[in-house]
Amino acid sequence: MAAFVKNQALTRKLNVLGLHSVEDLLHYFPYRYDDFSRVLATRDLRAGEVVAVEGYVKDVKIIRAWNRGTQLLEAVVDDASGSVRVVWFNQLYLARMFKKGTKIALAGKVYDGKRGIYFANPAYEIIGTGQESSLHTRRLVPVYRETKGLTSRWIRMLVHRYLDTASSLREIFPHEVLLREKFLPPERAVRSIHFPETSKDAKEARRRFQFEELFLLQTRFIMEQKGRERIRAHAIPFDQSLIKTFVDKLPFNLTDGQRRAAWQILQDIAHPYPMQRLLEGDVGSGKTIVAFLAVLEVIKAGHQAIIMAPTEVLARQHFASAKKILGPHGITIGFVTSSPYALIASHASEKKIAKKTFRALLKEGGVHVAIGTHALLSPEMLCKDVALAIVDEQHRFGVDQRSNILKKSGDAQAPHFLSMSATPIPRTLALAVYGDLDISRITEMPSDRKPIETRLVAPAHRNEAYAFIRSEIKEGRQAFVICPRIELSNNADQRGMGPAQISAEKDRRKLVWNDVKAVKEEYEKLSKIVFPDLSVAMLHGKLKSKEKESVMKKFTEGQTDILVSTSVIEVGIDVPNATVMAIEGADRFGLATLHQFRGRVGRGEHKSYCLLFSDSSGAETQSRLRALVGAKNGFELAQIDLELRGPGEFMGEAQSGMPDIAMEALQDPVLIERVREDARKVCAEDPDLARHPAIRERLKRSGGRVHGE
Ligand code: ADP
Ligand code: MG
Repeated sequence: MAAFVKNQALTRKLNVLGLHSVEDLLHYFPYRYDDFSRVLATRDLRAGEVVAVEGYVKDVKIIRAWNRGTQLLEAVVDDASGSVRVVWFNQLYLARMFKKGTKIALAGKVYDGKRGIYFANPAYEIIGTGQESSLHTRRLVPVYRETKGLTSRWIRMLVHRYLDTASSLREIFPHEVLLREKFLPPERAVRSIHFPETSKDAKEARRRFQFEELFLLQTRFIMEQKGRERIRAHAIPFDQSLIKTFVDKLPFNLTDGQRRAAWQILQDIAHPYPMQRLLEGDVGSGKTIVAFLAVLEVIKAGHQAIIMAPTEVLARQHFASAKKILGPHGITIGFVTSSPYALIASHASEKKIAKKTFRALLKEGGVHVAIGTHALLSPEMLCKDVALAIVDEQHRFGVDQRSNILKKSGDAQAPHFLSMSATPIPRTLALAVYGDLDISRITEMPSDRKPIETRLVAPAHRNEAYAFIRSEIKEGRQAFVICPRIELSNNADQRGMGPAQISAEKDRRKLVWNDVKAVKEEYEKLSKIVFPDLSVAMLHGKLKSKEKESVMKKFTEGQTDILVSTSVIEVGIDVPNATVMAIEGADRFGLATLHQFRGRVGRGEHKSYCLLFSDSSGAETQSRLRALVGAKNGFELAQIDLELRGPGEFMGEAQSGMPDIAMEALQDPVLIERVREDARKVCAEDPDLARHPAIRERLKRSGGRVHGE
């Protein structure tokens, strides 16, 4: 389809939104509609209603700013029935458009002020000639995700300008799918999704495109999976006696889930093409040891492995476990972070070496398994022969980084890839989003774990909860306090906006959150007022990595009683002496996330507790939180989260690489199964998509590799 508009600045902005062609633009769907379809006479306007009016500009003037930085344009618009006042903030350029006598349409919410009712920053359009279509008022108006300098209004006009090219869109679905689903044809669907006549129209169109995006995604996964089987990787022979000896030496028995996962992984790496597997299991379910089994086999077969963690603390923990568990098997373990020094552990001795020396060692194969943070991803970190790459907490690594890892080998062989995650993802969601990965799940905990007592703490019982924490600490235990992010009002940005604009802004933009502020405030309160006699520390992302390390070290060693922390930091930390996990603002977290926090206690011999603080006493919040008390594992809770809070809970959209419209559909497991089945059928009957050129083209356009090109 046609290349884009000629204006370079505009093209750049469109590119920011991922729009490179007219076809991309037509498939850039609104995420909602403003209903401005009700047109009233000015006489009938009532405050609080969202409506449109048509009339003539009677009067326009620029009003003095009532506070610094604000410029106000005020107009009066007349129709046969009367008139209405309109104000625009900081949009003086509109004065040039709204000359006296111009016929315009306005739409938005009607406000009531000291001088009667008025519109604040309404949508507008000049309707002088009566020939033009209404785009911004007097209809269901599409609202798009915007970028700097490219507003919904602009996008709307662009889409409208190119709408006629939709007639060249080709049908991608096979006949039988169309028969069953009764979709609108592509051109009509595109018209209806951008400029629907009715909301039913819009819904029908959305149904088509939800299906379409999911279908293309599934088709891509299937094609990629097939493509992967053509890539070479080291086939690591399954060494039963090695595994048996290793497992027999462990101080515990593997759980069934661990055995199953290990078996799947060891089967995978025995193939001559790269594994792409996701290992999921609650915090403490024992994923590390499963990963180590694969590491052991790979190294004994003469290759290298790398393990990457999202934080230094986690990487260090893996390094410590590797020394303990893999070290005795004659394996040399490296540890590297952004620091200029690296560590090498071998034969029970450990030494600090310059990073440069480390790089050389890694390259010549002197390090068997390299463990570290993102530093491992740097292009100078080359391995001699890496056959296995493991990423812990993979949801924090972008898709790009994943492909970065695949380049580590340098040679023709791609490494096997294992990602580990403690974020349980409901099955349907996993199919839809990680369809290119195989998934292993550990659903049970090692049997030696004691259940954690979970309590909801009402505001009135806060002091009793503090007394309880104090008593645990008197017994020699420790406590975590997790703070939710708090919303900051961003005054600088809202200055000069009217109420309508502020609420629209809030809607449109990601709210401004700050977790550091929350932690600092909580820390002040706990250390000075509630527990002045105890030792309280805080941990948040703004601390320098040295400071973080020292805070963690003190807590791990028991020198600190209470650790106040943000929610985003240090997943998977292991402090067996900590028995209390207190979570502030618990209602603001997803259940699966709360479950993960809870998993950080109960790791030692002592009975542990999870205290959920919430100021929201609503019945819904209460019943949602109560689900935590009874749930067996994170997967159950994830399913509840999906149903109650939607798929956004589980992933940033940027990471999922999934269009919004497809995300909307993820709550419907039946739909996803149906889409998968259709995609599988098409790929089975036509493996190269030779007979489905329209699908092929769409996949190519969205950056998917299609085998055979
Ligand atoms: P996670 O899945 O959160 O990464 P880890 O791998 O860190 O969990 O394991 C948590 C702890 O449980 C570790 O101390 C580990 O040695 C121990 N562990 C692992 N598997 C078992 C098991 N089957 N029985 C008892 N303890 C186990
Ligand atoms: Mg872990």
